[in-house]
Amino acid sequence: MLPSFKALSSRRHFLHRLGLAGLASSLPICRLLSARAAVFAASASLPASSGFRNRAPLAANAFYFLPLGSIRPTGWLESQLRIQANGLSGHLGETWADVGPDSGWLGGKGEAWERGPYYLDGLVPLAWLLDDARLKAKAQPFLDWTLDHQAPNGMIGPASNNDWWPRFVMLKVLTQYQELTGDNRVIPVMDKYLRHQLAELPQRPLRDWGKFRWQDELLSVLWLYNRTGSAYLLDLARLLHKQGYDWRSQYANFQYTERITSDYLKLKEGDGLKDLALATHGVNNGQAVKTGPVWSLVSGSPDDRAAVLTMISELNKYHGLPNGMFSCDEHLAGLDPSQGSELCTVVEYMYSLENSLAIVGDPRLGDRLEKLAFNALPGTFTDDMWAHQYNQEPNQVECSLHQKPWTTDGPESNLYGLEPNFGCCTANFNQGWPKFTNSLFMRSGAEESAHESDDGLVVAAYAPCEVRTTVRGTAVHVVEETSYPFRGAIRLVINPAAPVKFPLHLRIPAWAAGASIRINGEAAPQPVPESFARVERMWKAGDRVEIVFPMKPRISRWFHDSIAVERGPLVFSYGIGEDWVKLRDRGMTADWQVYLTSPWNYALKVDADEPEKSISVTEEAVGEQPFARKDTPVKLSVKARRLDAWRAEDGAADPLPQSPVASGQPEETLTLIPYAAAKLRVTAFPQCKS
Ligand SMILES: [Zn+2]
Repeated sequence: MLPSFKALSSRRHFLHRLGLAGLASSLPICRLLSARAAVFAASASLPASSGFRNRAPLAANAFYFLPLGSIRPTGWLESQLRIQANGLSGHLGETWADVGPDSGWLGGKGEAWERGPYYLDGLVPLAWLLDDARLKAKAQPFLDWTLDHQAPNGMIGPASNNDWWPRFVMLKVLTQYQELTGDNRVIPVMDKYLRHQLAELPQRPLRDWGKFRWQDELLSVLWLYNRTGSAYLLDLARLLHKQGYDWRSQYANFQYTERITSDYLKLKEGDGLKDLALATHGVNNGQAVKTGPVWSLVSGSPDDRAAVLTMISELNKYHGLPNGMFSCDEHLAGLDPSQGSELCTVVEYMYSLENSLAIVGDPRLGDRLEKLAFNALPGTFTDDMWAHQYNQEPNQVECSLHQKPWTTDGPESNLYGLEPNFGCCTANFNQGWPKFTNSLFMRSGAEESAHESDDGLVVAAYAPCEVRTTVRGTAVHVVEETSYPFRGAIRLVINPAAPVKFPLHLRIPAWAAGASIRINGEAAPQPVPESFARVERMWKAGDRVEIVFPMKPRISRWFHDSIAVERGPLVFSYGIGEDWVKLRDRGMTADWQVYLTSPWNYALKVDADEPEKSISVTEEAVGEQPFARKDTPVKLSVKARRLDAWRAEDGAADPLPQSPVASGQPEETLTLIPYAAAKLRVTAFPQCKS
């Protein structure tokens, strides 16, 4: 019989506090080993329904993901996932050969690199979160082929391509699939593969994409270590770090502060993928945001853990855009809101933020995650999710075949279509909504956290869902009802199987001044913006937590002192009149150009000190397509004047004039709608002189 969890927990806490160096100097080695073995047993004995924590000697997370499948989407979020399932995600292999029946990841002669794993990385959680038999049946043959065709030396995947990089993605797929199904093939296959990789890496080291994305494999290595405790996995973690690119140094002394051009990269010399191009590549940087936190679990360094905030701050300072993204079309592209961001970068940045939030526990990471999820992600798809862009722009006045303003991308980059510019996003976008859903609730760290006996639930991001998990040994069902981000009211109903005491941590966004929390109708202390509000009590079935975030319009400052209008986590845009012109059919979908049918060059007249006085709000019901323009749930009205000198050339708005600006044109009332609803849009506006 195992000792009680509490006894082992406090021992683990003791070991954690000391650190390994402290242990080595203060305890005989045999005692160290037996103490660590006991810790391993403690972790392995945790019930699967509440998930795994980090094994010693890994540092603790602030929060832990719930096992995939614990959180189910409801309300508008379920509608959004169903739109995805009924769109390209649920039919991709029927119309796009790269993930079709001849895929190399099904043993065929077709595409054998990243596209199969990319697709599954989103299809697997989508299928199981919706409990959709049709989608599961699409994913299962890929999973079976990978699990049943491991080479005798441990290698997985198509034999025709031995690149490590696409296998990083397939490992992420396998970890999700194992959590969802418990399929007992997964862990032995991963274990044999990673032992092979550890033996092989010294002769065949990480290169190009793998070298710059090593932290994504590290997540899967640590996932397996938390389940098996095999020490070689920590050796592999250190080898990945050693062979991988040093992102922390890049951002400690950030040199890439300007728009990166192809001349600068000298791509035209045909040198292939040089390190300079890879270090300034948008998707690589989006993935790299998580590097510091993930590596900090091995290094134990608080500086590694904090590096995520430095990275985001530098990206924002030199390449930040009002939709929450940094520019990358496809290299870092500066502050002009006519520059684009690649869809792969949106979903990878989200995934980095989700993992960083879990490890670090900083509420600002949740604010940015919501900004991407509710703006940049839906803004780059058609309403039915049958077509997407490669690059989206905050100021996007035309979607057509044009070369300007992209740093290194091609002329199809902002068309809505099947695979505009390049097909990576077509395969990779699928992970965005399902992984966001899985990040809404987390568990708070236990004995290692700031609170000695924490072990509660965390609301990390807000959207309608329900959660089934185990807290302190008691089954707990939570229902979250809300129309957030379109409204500020959120209701949680907590239903434990028996009364149980635990803390609930509620993320209070930085913008949420004046927020309130009521428990069963009684006011709780007023929460502080940019924090987690902690509500600890003996929870009983039917307990209600009601949160209200005041949704006042506010403005933010961007390129050339331009302004963007925000309300809650939503960014608002002027929706330019759109004319959708089909460029060509693409199997079950099509490629579209979008041309404007109305003026767009407006300067806004708002009171910067009290923006809510010059911006009025209209709310309507949330429809089946929450981000569609035709029935958008919230609109803003604001005064504006045309600005004749601000023009567009070759499909892109010229750089914004420096604000404030003067205009002799008559005053008009402009309607602003959520960023995602406006496929042609102006988001960063010049500000009119008063
Ligand atoms: Zn892409």
